[in-house]
Amino acid sequence: MKSILLALLVFSISVFPEDNIVLVISMDGLRHDFPEKLQTGGFSLISSKGLKAESLVPVYQSTTYPGHVSIATGVHPDKHGILHNSFYDKKKGSFSYSPDASWIEAKPVWAYLEERGIKTATYFWVGSETDWNGIEITYSKFPFSSRVSEEEKIKQILDWLSLPDDERPRLIMTWWHGIDSTAHKYGINNKKTMQSLIQQDQHLLDLINQIKDKDLWKNVTLIVVSDHGMTDISNLININELLKTSKIKAKSSIGPAIGHIFLEDQSDLQKAMKALKQNKFIEVKRKNEIHKSLNLLHPTRTGDIVVLTKSPNMLVSRKNNNPPIGMHGYNPEVNKDMEGIFFAYGNKIKPLQIGKVHQVDVAPTILSILNVEIPKYMEGKKIDLN
Ligand SMILES: [Zn+2]
Repeated sequence: MKSILLALLVFSISVFPEDNIVLVISMDGLRHDFPEKLQTGGFSLISSKGLKAESLVPVYQSTTYPGHVSIATGVHPDKHGILHNSFYDKKKGSFSYSPDASWIEAKPVWAYLEERGIKTATYFWVGSETDWNGIEITYSKFPFSSRVSEEEKIKQILDWLSLPDDERPRLIMTWWHGIDSTAHKYGINNKKTMQSLIQQDQHLLDLINQIKDKDLWKNVTLIVVSDHGMTDISNLININELLKTSKIKAKSSIGPAIGHIFLEDQSDLQKAMKALKQNKFIEVKRKNEIHKSLNLLHPTRTGDIVVLTKSPNMLVSRKNNNPPIGMHGYNPEVNKDMEGIFFAYGNKIKPLQIGKVHQVDVAPTILSILNVEIPKYMEGKKIDLN
């Protein structure tokens, strides 16, 4: 017993991080080239005084839930299982914007840290609203509401950063609005999208200044990322209509760039493939034709048939009388507009420009800043920040 206690003590000392805090902000839909449009706010400050990557390559499909969960787990969607904001699982049924973290099949970085006695906090991050396999997060704000302003989040972040050492979280992760909803509605070149961008830039500057006022930058490393980029689209493809016309009975889970078709009757496979192939803007594949490198193959969440499309096309499951102008979700290997941002600023960071980094690299990088061992299950690698 004594030796176990001693081993535990040594273990907890060896993994305890330095007095350093990582603060991660995700700005929804902020494309890699958007910060260059700005001159006076937070982005120009962290661009000149911090580290700037050429871009952050998102996972595929490049949508909000898969992206945030990949940032948090360091693995691709086929491993964490969150294939899109909504999807179908042959065993568990339908998932749709659920806060239930039991759908996530890889350990989020906060759970990994909490297990080691390191306190963490989230102010809106996909999968952090409930415990993960019984592991609770120390501080978490929920339920998610898009009405909560960045000012409110900044206030809470400053309160967390100001806690006494033994209560203070070492990792804080927060979702910000970015330009996502404005760009969906008005498109990437609309002035309203630019206004959203300027607002986010100003909030970022406010946060940086408030941390400075409290003299906390000596302990804080800020990482600013996004979940995906954005592009303008013009052609909607109604997948369910194609199936219905050919009298195919199937469940479908349709994202903007990838659709999964689960046939009620497997003998309909050829007929369904033929029906879908009538549309020349989509690629139609059987599950066993999907290449492993796309990271789309999940045991119970990948359809019998998978349909794929590129911008300016978008897959839909029903008629849409008010279609979006801006969209994302496309394969980042094909569409550069899907690439997001990666910046680092503050403690341990010097001015530096680096090449492209990947979304699955963020979690290992957080752990490396905190001086905590990177677990083998993470598929990304730590980003060299110096
Ligand atoms: Zn998003």
